[in-house]
Amino acid sequence: MEALKQRIIKDGIIKEGNVLKVDSFLNHQLDINLFEKMGEEFKKRFEGQEINKILTIEASGIAIACIVARHFNVPVVFAKKSKTKNIAGEVYTSKVESFTHGRVYDIIVSKDFLNPEDKVLIIDDFLANGQALIGLSNLVKDAGATLVGAGIAIEKGFQKGGDLLREQGVRVESLAIIDEMDVEKGIKFR
Ligand code: 5GP
Repeated sequence: MEALKQRIIKDGIIKEGNVLKVDSFLNHQLDINLFEKMGEEFKKRFEGQEINKILTIEASGIAIACIVARHFNVPVVFAKKSKTKNIAGEVYTSKVESFTHGRVYDIIVSKDFLNPEDKVLIIDDFLANGQALIGLSNLVKDAGATLVGAGIAIEKGFQKGGDLLREQGVRVESLAIIDEMDVEKGIKFR
């Protein structure tokens, strides 16, 4: 998606450790008009697919997911990062290793909000090593729901997540795929 790529080039900041900061439009301050265009694009890419629920993960995924969900006219469920023990029974849970924070945490979704009848589109801001996406798809699997696909704003194509998920048969649609990212040479898109 050209508008997103241009914005990444204009305002994205490359940090140590393969991290791209997009705080001025995607992760902290939010450019709602850009989100609107992203919603339109995901709607186009998943045209004809039956989707009745959007699933994302707190915190950065929520804002994007909400605007995307307006285009599909479906509810959003977000997985919570949980510190609570002893929650088995009422929730689906999975472990995720955080790319940006380097630690493992549990993600949970109440059993009330994911059902075997659900046709789920996962939305997230970034795809790096794929841990967040794998964790979310495990929740979908545990609920007996159907995973229609995943819509990602920015995929870092030089990390393994995209290939891993696609090899597993997940339809991953990314609006901007970065193949190279270097403080001196800048950003190269696929
Ligand atoms: P993964 O689980 O695919 O390794 O990483 C995805 C998650 O880590 C995303 O939900 C996102 O919050 C965070 N993340 C991964 N790479 C980046 C990055 O380069 N910049 C930012 N801002 N977040 C990232």
